[in-house]
Amino acid sequence: SINVETCKQMIIAACDAIIDSKEYLTEVDSKIGDGDHGIGMSGGMEKAKAALLAKDDLATINDVFKTTGMQMLNSMGGASGVIFGSMFLGGIKDLEPATELDGELFSKIISASVKTIKLRGKAEIGDKTMVDALEPAAAALEKADKDDLTLLMGDAAMAAAGGVEATKDMVAKFGRAKSLMERAIGFQDAGATSVMIIFEAMHRYLQ
Ligand code: ADP
Ligand code: MG
Ligand code: MG
Repeated sequence: SINVETCKQMIIAACDAIIDSKEYLTEVDSKIGDGDHGIGMSGGMEKAKAALLAKDDLATINDVFKTTGMQMLNSMGGASGVIFGSMFLGGIKDLEPATELDGELFSKIISASVKTIKLRGKAEIGDKTMVDALEPAAAALEKADKDDLTLLMGDAAMAAAGGVEATKDMVAKFGRAKSLMERAIGFQDAGATSVMIIFEAMHRYLQ
């Protein structure tokens, strides 16, 4: 398991990966969306990273996720601010304060996160959204051996990447891509791509 400081550094690594992917995410969103996903995500993650670095009084794992989610929610605005804010806030809202993050807890957090996002945004698997990456990641975590957080994170990252690949074959139920109908086929979803980048970065950090 990892402590609060290591958890904070792991989330900062995810922020950095999104910030570095700003242009790529914009390009992905440009194909079938409105091309602002890289700007929104990197902006939110810049704020989250700054807030995490500024706080030296983060006492719990809950605080790390809460700080990250609140910054994204407040700075990104719009639907994706709520969705990606909820990715971090939804997982910890009913959680007892914890000072260590292990595989069991991480699995619990991500499962609660998917549940919150689906409730808020009404997207299901197959709708060509970030849920198509996050729900397979949550399922992989539930199935995995909980003893090794690093291996567990690798499984989640692989599942998220598989989810991104799967979005290429889907028509969209949300956003601008919806109006493209079958013409969206062949292109991956931007939000799902962000989820994959976040899990891959957390895995790399733990290795
Ligand atoms: P916008 O669509 O407002 O331009 P972004 O480009 O930042 O916002 O984010 C778009 C991403 O948000 C999509 O690629 C999709 O993954 C995700 N998304 C949109 N609507 C939903 C929803 N209802 N549930 C889950 N994810 C969603
Ligand atoms: Mg967009
Ligand atoms: Mg937009």
